[in-house]
Amino acid sequence: MSISATSPVPTLPAPAGASPGTYREQGGGKSDETSTGATTGTTIGMSAAQRRSAELEELIRQDPGRFRVLTGDRPTGRLHLGHYFGTLHNRVRLQDLGVETFLIIADYQVLTDRDVADRLDERVEDLVLDYLAVGIDPARTTIFAHSAVSALNQLLLPFLSLVSVSELSRNPTVKDEIAHSRQSAVSGLMFTYPAHQAADILFCKADLVPVGQDQLPHLELTRTIARRFNDRYGTGGTPVFPEPDALLSAAPLLLGTDGTKMSKSRGNAIPLAAGADETALLVRSAKTDAHRHIAYDPEARPEVSSLVLLAALCLGRDPHEVAADIGDKGAAALKATVTEAVNEYLAPIRERRARYAQDLGYVRQVLRDGNEIANEVAETTLGEVRAAMKTLY
Ligand code: ATP
Ligand code: MG
Repeated sequence: MSISATSPVPTLPAPAGASPGTYREQGGGKSDETSTGATTGTTIGMSAAQRRSAELEELIRQDPGRFRVLTGDRPTGRLHLGHYFGTLHNRVRLQDLGVETFLIIADYQVLTDRDVADRLDERVEDLVLDYLAVGIDPARTTIFAHSAVSALNQLLLPFLSLVSVSELSRNPTVKDEIAHSRQSAVSGLMFTYPAHQAADILFCKADLVPVGQDQLPHLELTRTIARRFNDRYGTGGTPVFPEPDALLSAAPLLLGTDGTKMSKSRGNAIPLAAGADETALLVRSAKTDAHRHIAYDPEARPEVSSLVLLAALCLGRDPHEVAADIGDKGAAALKATVTEAVNEYLAPIRERRARYAQDLGYVRQVLRDGNEIANEVAETTLGEVRAAMKTLY
């Protein structure tokens, strides 16, 4: 492959005003999370998760080699700006700091909210292309699909025995995803997917999971499963599994063009791979509000503030300053600023993606190599689990 996986990609600026604290309120207000009660569940844990993320950043800075990261995505469509600023940028940053990183393509989980996983092979290739384009380096990050790793999936059975049906049913993110599901009935896979996600994380004993806000309830369940497994089956005080931490970014919940969480499956996303004109159209269609004056106030004006933050992240500026510059020029001027900032920021990423798309053979090889490594790791962990459970015959 002629394209260097380490050629420069834009670095994410850290605008002072876009600290997680400033952004937290974005999850409230008119976000879709509110309507299903998901915000109640996630914002309660948000400030603790943000404090913990700040502590973790300091520990990572001191010793990146002590951490192992697992993170990933469902192959349900092209990755979008919510992914980029919510988690992808963190993944690349951690990889570049020398943290061992596993990147999972959660293909079985596509079937949690739809009957048929349409064009799954193409979607998976799309995802790998997005990863390569943003700077994920397969020489340092293991990219794999969970359906290809049998031992990982076997962990689901003992893990399910460690959680109650009521614990699964009160998960606010599952409730939210059921509300947006394309299925008329809730499948067992949807209901149990947080336990499946625990297997995704714990098969490689990851202790750090860079995620968006919607994943906090799942992380909590993974910690519970790890703790219960260790209590029940650990011997001599040696835990089998770590209790992993979520690592939140400065934009843990970017809103989509309709003012709800930007999501691949909800038709409200600005894909990383979109062309400049498509981006302009999508930004122009974004929901704003009736006030002409532009201000950065995530709680009172979530839609406008999400657009301001997007521009600020791309420009490396404080969102309050970006808003002040636009002032009374209104939503059209805000959208023009966002479009220009996004298109400029994403140009090198889009260019790299187009070059990788010329060589799908390489993309498939990346996945085969990653699957092989993940299988070895999963077999080792399953061996330890069977020994702990005394099921080695
Ligand atoms: P789908 O609609 O198919 O569920 P999605 O857009 O929600 O897709 P996922 O694959 O479910 O994407 O999520 C992958 C990762 O990206 C998770 O860590 C999630 O927290 C993060 N993420 C997704 N959307 C956003 C967003 N709008 N803001 C911040 N982080 C996000
Ligand atoms: Mg999702």
